Amino acid sequence: MSLMSRHINSTRLVRTYNASTVLKTLYEHGSCSRSQLTELTGMSPATITRIITELMQQGIVLEGTHGKSTGGRRPIYLHIDHTKLYIASVKLVRDDCLVAVLDLRGQILAKEPLRPSSFEARALLSDVASSLRAIMASLSIKPEHVIGVGVSASGICHPVEGIVIRSLNLGWKDVPVADILGELLGLPVLLENDANACALAEHWLGNARETMNSMYIKAESGAGVGIISNQALLTGSRFVTGEIGHVPLIPGGKLCRCGQRGCLEPYVYFQGVKEDYKKATGKDITHAGFVELVREGCQFAVDIVNDAASALALACAHWGIILDLEVITIGGVWGEFQQEIVDHCQKYYDSILEQSVIPSSVSIRGASFDDVADLLGAAGLVVSNWFTPAAVPFAR
Ligand SMILES: [Zn+2]
Repeated sequence: MSLMSRHINSTRLVRTYNASTVLKTLYEHGSCSRSQLTELTGMSPATITRIITELMQQGIVLEGTHGKSTGGRRPIYLHIDHTKLYIASVKLVRDDCLVAVLDLRGQILAKEPLRPSSFEARALLSDVASSLRAIMASLSIKPEHVIGVGVSASGICHPVEGIVIRSLNLGWKDVPVADILGELLGLPVLLENDANACALAEHWLGNARETMNSMYIKAESGAGVGIISNQALLTGSRFVTGEIGHVPLIPGGKLCRCGQRGCLEPYVYFQGVKEDYKKATGKDITHAGFVELVREGCQFAVDIVNDAASALALACAHWGIILDLEVITIGGVWGEFQQEIVDHCQKYYDSILEQSVIPSSVSIRGASFDDVADLLGAAGLVVSNWFTPAAVPFAR
C-alpha cells in the first residue's frame, strides 16, 4: 500500500486508479496522444477514451496541438490543466498557523492565518478542516479536485504514519494528524516536520535548486534543521535528524530553557528575544520592529544579532562540513541580516575550509520564501508522493 492510499475510499473520478494513472502519466510526460496513453498505461483504447472524455468534461484535461499523421488521423496531444487540480497545505506552528490552497503549478491561490480557539489537537485540526473547506468554497473548488493535504508541523513527526510524535511548540504527543484530518476532510494527508518542509521548498523551488546536498536552518520558533542529502530528505532512524536546538555548541554559553548552557536555541529563539526586550524596556517588539532596531544600531538588538551570528556560524560549519553541503539556507528573521549574520557565517565557514585545506565550498544564504516555505514544502510532498517512485513537483 502506498502512503497515500490509506485514506482513499472514494470512487470520485480523480482519485480512481485509472484516472489517477492517466493524470500522473500526463503530468510526467507533459502531453500525450490517446494512443501514447494506451501504450504507457497498458489500458485498453476504450478505457482511455472513456477516462479522457470524463476528465475533459471536468476541465482537468485539455486538447492541445495536433501531431504528425502516421497514416491515419493526426493525433491530438492531451495535457493537464495545472490550474484545475489542487493541493491543500497547512502550517502548524504556534502563533503562526496558516492554511492555503495551491494549484498543481505550486501557485498559492489563497492563504489564511488560522487563529485556533484551542491548541488541543482535535480542536485545532477541526479548525484547520473548517478553514480549508471555507477556502475551497470561496474559490469554487470541488474537494474531489484536491489531490491531497500537506501538513508541516513544528516537532518530531513520523511521516509514514502521519503522527506528530512530540511537539514542544504545539504541546502535542503522539497525535495522529493524518488520520484525524484525513477523516475530517475525506482527503489523503501527508505530514512532515516544519524544517524538513522548508528544506524541500528550497530544494524544489528556491536556493538549493539543482544541488544535491543542502540544509535549511529553521531558527525562530525553536532551532532545527532540515537536510537534503543526495537529493532526498535525510530522516534518520527515528525521525529526529536535524534536532540540533539543544545540543550545546558554546561552552559556558547562554542558559537554555532546557537547563543546559550554550545550546543554539537560546541564541535564536525569537520569542525569547521578544521577552528579553520586554523585560529591558517594558515594550513589545515585532519581527519587523526588531529588524528596524538593528538597522538603527540599537545596542541591545545589535548584541543579540551578533550573538546569534556566532552561534549560527558554528552550527553552519559543524553541520555543513559533516554533510559536505553545497547550500545552507538560514530561515526566518536571522536570514534577513545579510551582513551581520549570513556573510558572517559564510566568512567563518570559508576560513575553516582554508585553514584546514578541505577542498569544499558552500553558499550560505537567507531564505527564498517568507512564511510560505512550510506551505510550499508540504504541498510539494503531496504532489511528489502522488507518484511511485516520488517525483519532483512543480517542475513545469
Ligand atoms: Zn537547550
